[in-house]
Amino acid sequence: GHPQHIAIQIFPYAKGRRLLLTRDVTAVELAEAMRRDFVANVSHEIRSPLTVIVGFIEALQNLALTEGERARYLELMQQQARRMQTLIDDLLMLSRLEGSPIPDDSHWVVIADVMAEAFTQARSLADVLHAGQQSLVLVEGPPVEVAGARGELLSAIGNLLSNAVRYTPSTGRVEAGWRLLADDELEIYVTDDGPGIAPEHLPRLTERFYRVDRSRSRDSGGTGLGLAIVKHVIQRHSGQLAIDSRLGEGSTFRLRLPPARVRRIAPEPGLAAP
Ligand code: ADP
Repeated sequence: GHPQHIAIQIFPYAKGRRLLLTRDVTAVELAEAMRRDFVANVSHEIRSPLTVIVGFIEALQNLALTEGERARYLELMQQQARRMQTLIDDLLMLSRLEGSPIPDDSHWVVIADVMAEAFTQARSLADVLHAGQQSLVLVEGPPVEVAGARGELLSAIGNLLSNAVRYTPSTGRVEAGWRLLADDELEIYVTDDGPGIAPEHLPRLTERFYRVDRSRSRDSGGTGLGLAIVKHVIQRHSGQLAIDSRLGEGSTFRLRLPPARVRRIAPEPGLAAP
């Protein structure tokens, strides 16, 4: 637990008399400390790529560079600028998730479509990071729709897949799919046989900027915000995120959506087998 903080105010209200007011400010202080942490983190995450970029601009002003050096420096600057772009995109996504109303059940999202799109993105990422060596498998589930926001669901599934692809070595295997559980809950899963996560990290994994291995996350293009986004999205859809992981064996991330937000897609008339 966090220490309790009590604010005390003393008002003299008559000769020799004092009124003592106490107020529990623990929650307020905690929120304030979290906000300060967040701002410090964001500033640091923006400052480091910027420092690299400024350094290379200075190097480029040196006229004695070879063509090869110039090209190399520009490439490194581009990498760092992209890192900042991704960070800003994730920050905007998080702030939109916090500021916008909860998606209602007037929009139905076809899960097979969203999974296919997220999977295509994951495949291009795997091509870049693992030269197409990593094995990526999509296991199609039943035809279902989910009431919610398509963009948000795509982003949640996309983040889980991109994590699996980034943290699992080229020789590894990543599988994603969906199924209906016995009580008609929908489960969307992403599983990998990568490094796994030690149990002490699991409770903090969805905190903003929490990373098990900072440099490994950054080197593969991580912002530290992916799982925070996933958690927000799934909570906004009245669902849950479950994480199962064993060090050295791999990880499974499951999104569960309640039956009220899930429906089967009826087969189109005339397309059914006679
Ligand atoms: P990041 O941008 O750093 O990947 P996330 O919020 O998506 O941020 O994930 C937080 C941390 O959880 C990561 O830095 C990584 O240490 C760990 N992690 C997430 N997914 C996996 C996975 N599939 N295998 C191993 N570690 C993972």
